[in-house]
Amino acid sequence: MRTGTPLITDDPRAAEALASIRVLYTDLDGTLVAKGGSVLADADARPSLVVAEAIVALARAGVAVVPVSGRGRLQLRELTQLLGWDGYIAEAGGIIVHGTGLDFEAHMDTGGWPEGTLAADETPFRAINRVGAAEALIEALPGRIEQYAPWQLDREVSLLLRGCLDAAEGQAVLDTLPLPLDFVDNGMLRNYGTLTCRDMPPHAYHVVPRGVSKTRAISLDLAWRGLDRTQAAAIGDSATDLQMADAVGVLALVDNAFGSNGVTNGLEATPRDNVWRTQAERGEGWAEFAGAWLAALR
Ligand SMILES: [Mg+2]
Repeated sequence: MRTGTPLITDDPRAAEALASIRVLYTDLDGTLVAKGGSVLADADARPSLVVAEAIVALARAGVAVVPVSGRGRLQLRELTQLLGWDGYIAEAGGIIVHGTGLDFEAHMDTGGWPEGTLAADETPFRAINRVGAAEALIEALPGRIEQYAPWQLDREVSLLLRGCLDAAEGQAVLDTLPLPLDFVDNGMLRNYGTLTCRDMPPHAYHVVPRGVSKTRAISLDLAWRGLDRTQAAAIGDSATDLQMADAVGVLALVDNAFGSNGVTNGLEATPRDNVWRTQAERGEGWAEFAGAWLAALR
């Protein structure tokens, strides 16, 4: 699938589409940050300014960058402020925030859940726990799924898990529960934790209210900004990131995305003409995308 996906730096059609982009929605883990989580490092986690320089160059050009991540609200608030950005989408699309610090506006998305689904003062995360989603998955798929400690704490919308399975298997278990839920593949991890499966790399999975997604959150955020999808790009490395192509004009995949079965299956199942790839992995691929975008804006 890698060879069937054109390079963002090498396609006149990409340059044309990038010329009208005003906002970039970026995944973090596996995309912007190096192994270990730093932006001051190259794809192999050696000290480097490549990513930081790209972030600064985009800020100088006056375009917006919005992190879209499975991480929680507090994690994203700190990161957004540190990198000089002014909004973020947390919990795999469940929380959309405009502004940073104490001056912000937040929206919690419950997707297609009808009114009255949540008990008084109940968060979607608590409702997902009320129906025992984690327990049902762990019982049905022993050794293949677990709570993703310690990141499963302090959450408001999505239940965060680590596992190695086909997303359809997880979805089949959720479909037996009395709440409409989606099982979302948010990309590869490096550590198996206590999982016993070794036939595929471990992935991060989210259980969210049906309909909640990074894609839907981007559409909501674009409406708030008064922009249309041809003015937005997104970049990522996971199956759920690939679906962001449905909400933006340009979707870029960093090279390591092609190691994920969710991504390659998704590319095969749904051919899209607005997906490009970078040559480099992780943050170096991100900087490559930034360079192509800045060149197109000039
Ligand atoms: Mg990722």
